[in-house]
Amino acid sequence: MISTNRKPRAFAPDPAAPGQGCDSPGCALNGDYRAPKSRGNLREFHWFCLEHVRAYNASWDYYKGMSPGEIEAELRADTSWQRPSWPLGQNGAASRQQEALEAELRNFAFGAERPHQAPRPNIPAELRDALEIFGLVWPVTLETVKAKYKTLAKQHHPDANQGSKQAEERLKNINLAYATLRGKLAAAPD
Ligand SMILES: [Zn+2]
Repeated sequence: MISTNRKPRAFAPDPAAPGQGCDSPGCALNGDYRAPKSRGNLREFHWFCLEHVRAYNASWDYYKGMSPGEIEAELRADTSWQRPSWPLGQNGAASRQQEALEAELRNFAFGAERPHQAPRPNIPAELRDALEIFGLVWPVTLETVKAKYKTLAKQHHPDANQGSKQAEERLKNINLAYATLRGKLAAAPD
């Protein structure tokens, strides 16, 4: 028998549960398990009982239409942007909770733990940073980049983030990355 100690306990009750009932209509159980409300808002959660968090996770369309590589890149991009001062896996309850959430997301995105190394086609060196910022995996099309830019620019616009300086910085980086990607892709023969 093979024991997989590294497998995250994705469905352990959350110690941060606010002690309210399950969000599923008509359910009388405690909401001890959290699930992100939406793709655009990973910091707000529904709270469900175990059965309903599983049902919710199964039907959640956060990653619909994305390849596993894109999902992973998205998780990484989210990690490096949202918590610049708390590298993944360092001390701190918030960090551990975040880590558990990301493990949970990965679990239901991939069905099980998978090797982190995926074969990658040759990425043009000058595009690596831009792709990382966009959370995209090479090769990409101009259309994908444009669509992603729209989403990111909206999400990280200072107006949507209480005028946050960090959001302004992120938007600046997004704009630079967009210019780089667009320049390269528009010039490339199809
Ligand atoms: Zn329930």
